[in-house]
Amino acid sequence: MYCCKCGAQNDDNARFCSECGLRFRPENYDAVPVQPVQPGQPIQPSPAVVPIVPTHSTKNNVMCLVGFYGALSSIVMMGSTSPVFFIISLIGLIKCNKTKEPGRGYAIAGIIITSVMMGTFIVGVIAGLIQRDY
Ligand SMILES: [Zn+2]
Repeated sequence: MYCCKCGAQNDDNARFCSECGLRFRPENYDAVPVQPVQPGQPIQPSPAVVPIVPTHSTKNNVMCLVGFYGALSSIVMMGSTSPVFFIISLIGLIKCNKTKEPGRGYAIAGIIITSVMMGTFIVGVIAGLIQRDY
């Protein structure tokens, strides 16, 4: 190798130029540990991409509960919101049946309540129409 400063020819392994004394490499060049490459080591996932814990089972239970409490709330709403919570309860029941989860009782109760409320709501509407017409 040739010195970049004075152009003198030096041994390839020389650390200093024999002519001008230019330091070719840091003194601890050989001591610097090379970052060990570890093939097969799994890449550490960053916190941002940590897989979300599956909340599958609880979601279905929540749906049953929402259906049930929505059904209760629809009583206050004179049954006008019953169809919405009837559907939610029904979906919750179907999903809980598939996954053998608890919460089916809530879904069934929600379906019963919404069914009754829808019935009374429809009867009430019809009764109202009849009273208005006659
Ligand atoms: Zn030199």
